[in-house]
Amino acid sequence: MNMAFERDNILSMSGYVPGEQPTESNVIKLNTNENPYPASPRVTEALAAINIEELRRYPSPTASRFRQTAADYHGLSDYNILPTNGGDELLRLAITTFADPGETIGIAVPSYSLYPVLTEIQGCKLVSIPLLDDWNLPANFADRLNGAGAKLALLVNPHAPSGILTGAEQIIDIANSFEGVLLIDEAYVDFVDPENEYDLAPEVEQLDNILLLRTLSKGFSLAGLRFGYGMGPKTIIEPMMYKTRDSYNTDHISQQLATAALESADYARQTWSKVRSERLLLTEELQKLGLTCPPSQSNFLLAQAENEETAGDIVKRLKRENILIRYFDEDRLRDKLRITVGNPEQNQHLLDCLKSIIS
Ligand SMILES: *Cc1c(COP(=O)(O)O)cnc(C)c1O
Repeated sequence: MNMAFERDNILSMSGYVPGEQPTESNVIKLNTNENPYPASPRVTEALAAINIEELRRYPSPTASRFRQTAADYHGLSDYNILPTNGGDELLRLAITTFADPGETIGIAVPSYSLYPVLTEIQGCKLVSIPLLDDWNLPANFADRLNGAGAKLALLVNPHAPSGILTGAEQIIDIANSFEGVLLIDEAYVDFVDPENEYDLAPEVEQLDNILLLRTLSKGFSLAGLRFGYGMGPKTIIEPMMYKTRDSYNTDHISQQLATAALESADYARQTWSKVRSERLLLTEELQKLGLTCPPSQSNFLLAQAENEETAGDIVKRLKRENILIRYFDEDRLRDKLRITVGNPEQNQHLLDCLKSIIS
């Protein structure tokens, strides 16, 4: 007799496996794309100012102060903003709001391995469209989504794990041609070079089917806080805001801290520029070691090792030196290493270790 009570698709699926979070403090953590620099001192102050009496009551159900702050930050209205418990909650909300079980969700592969997991939980079909060899999207991406009848597409930009940025024009073209909801996962957007002038926020007033994902986990150094938000036209935001979301999906403390983080974004902006210059240096130094990386607009690099065996070997040997990087046992990624850009000291230590491993 089958003693499992869960739904069949839950029984047969595998869960998402997060990157390792070690408890020891002597580890150099370059495996989960955290910002190596601390959050703004304004966030520390906001935390110190929390009074336990404030926690006796329920939080603002709409995170209204944060919502207005984010709207001002992007030049939008509060109804364009949906605060969530991390960016991951927005993915789950979008799937449960816009795709019935049995309907199709489109993704480009490879990408964030949480997408197929959330698709499976909802009992949706997945259409996986392979990226080109240079990690760019195929020209007929929107046509293929439409051909598959996709109700929702999940696209990470800058792309993970390559770091490649798709230009705003191309995204707008896809949104215009695609017949479903286009979710652009901008988890790493803060690290894009300002010269690229990539900003899709104004488009949420122009396009009726776009939903942008933002998170404070990476750019704002607050992965432990669990705070993100969606941005979109009113008709996309409203059903999630007033129907599918838990009434108190973000807590009082995280609302206060997230608001302080956005209000002091200039502080975080300095960390983005440090990460960008370190990214460039690290790319060059890895290249000298024969580990070529596509040009990344993110806070990580995807380094090409000689082959699958060397890639696995490097990961193991770095771990012995207390350096964690990420390895994906997935098509097209088995001979590659995903390395988070750390601070100068961490990057130097990584390079020193890599030099001795490779020589
Ligand atoms: C980090 C990340 C997110 C969101 O993460 P949260 O910590 O839940 O905000 C979303 N998509 C990608 C590709 C990510 O790497």
